[in-house]
Amino acid sequence: MSNLVPLNSPVLHRPASPIAEDEFGTKPLAAAIDQLGESFDVFFKAYKGVGLAAPQIGIPWRLAVAEDYGLRPTSPRWQHDLVRRPFARIIMCNPTIAWASDEQIFAWETCLSEADVVGLVERPREMQIEYRSSRGAAQSLVAQDWAARILSHEVDHLFGCLCSQRYLPGSSMATDQYTREWKDRPLSDALRAFRAG
Ligand SMILES: [Zn+2]
Repeated sequence: MSNLVPLNSPVLHRPASPIAEDEFGTKPLAAAIDQLGESFDVFFKAYKGVGLAAPQIGIPWRLAVAEDYGLRPTSPRWQHDLVRRPFARIIMCNPTIAWASDEQIFAWETCLSEADVVGLVERPREMQIEYRSSRGAAQSLVAQDWAARILSHEVDHLFGCLCSQRYLPGSSMATDQYTREWKDRPLSDALRAFRAG
């Protein structure tokens, strides 16, 4: 497994390199995917992470993994206000957002790369993602609500954008404050407080 790179690493802040046609199915790409998967296993268990982009562990490729275990009794109260359907692990090479709904929703968001801060981020309720499999096969999926948010967050990483850049002004705070004040409240309370409703 690989460690997360520090927040000031350039690889987190610039667009990742697209995987070239002749790199699909090769050993270097398979090795990068294994490394990403192993790291994700660790973060997935330790921090309940739901996605990891290759640049977060220092791999400058347009490559990301996502998986959602769905709501649990320990999930924050506000997550019950969103549709959250579990989905199995997806490895995405060169993902792009092909279509996004006009309807957007706000939700609290943080990132493994800056886990000490949380804020409200607005994202499309529904989107279509196109990507390639590790062997280069063209794939497409439509995701809603929580799944759309996860995939959109990962695609952002591959273009050098961290969710903190999308925080609704005034809504970002230290994680311990969020845990104390907002984690167990409905999303509508947060939207009212930060005038995002
Ligand atoms: Zn992230």
